[in-house]
Amino acid sequence: MSKKVSAVCKSKRIYDSQLVAKKYAGKAKRKYGVVLHPYRCDCGNYHLSSKPTKAYKGEQRRYRKLHMYHVWINYNVPQMPSEQADRSEEFVPLMAAAFPELKIVKGVIKSKSGCYQHTWLVTPKDEVIDPTARQFHLLGELEYKPAVAD
Ligand SMILES: [Zn+2]
Repeated sequence: MSKKVSAVCKSKRIYDSQLVAKKYAGKAKRKYGVVLHPYRCDCGNYHLSSKPTKAYKGEQRRYRKLHMYHVWINYNVPQMPSEQADRSEEFVPLMAAAFPELKIVKGVIKSKSGCYQHTWLVTPKDEVIDPTARQFHLLGELEYKPAVAD
C-alpha cells in the first residue's frame, strides 16, 4: 500500500491505528474537555479532527432515537411489572403508531424459567425495543425468538 503523507498530514499528529487515535481523543477529552474524532486519512494513517465524522453523527442520531423510545415507554406504559403482564399486544401497536420505523415482531421470550408468548418491536437495525419488558424483570437474561412464519 502506498502511503502519501502530504504537508497537511505532517502538520497533524499521525496515529497508525484507530485504537491509538481513539485513546488519544479520550485523553484530550478528559484533560481539556475537547471532543476530537478519529478519521482515516488518504495517507493510510489516522488523524484527529474537531469536526464530527459521518459515523459519529450517525451514532448520535441512533442514541437520540433510542432515548426517545425510552421516554415514550416511560410516559405511556405503566412501569409496575405486574401492570405490564400480558399487555404487550396492547402497547406494541401504540408504540408502532408513534414510531412508524419500528416493526412489530411476534414470538416467544426465552428465559431460564421458561418460554412466554410475547410481542415486541425492532428498529431498522434489528435492535429489540420492548415496551413491556419490565414484566420479565425477575427472569434474568432474556432471549427474543421471533416466530417462524409458516
Ligand atoms: Zn494523512
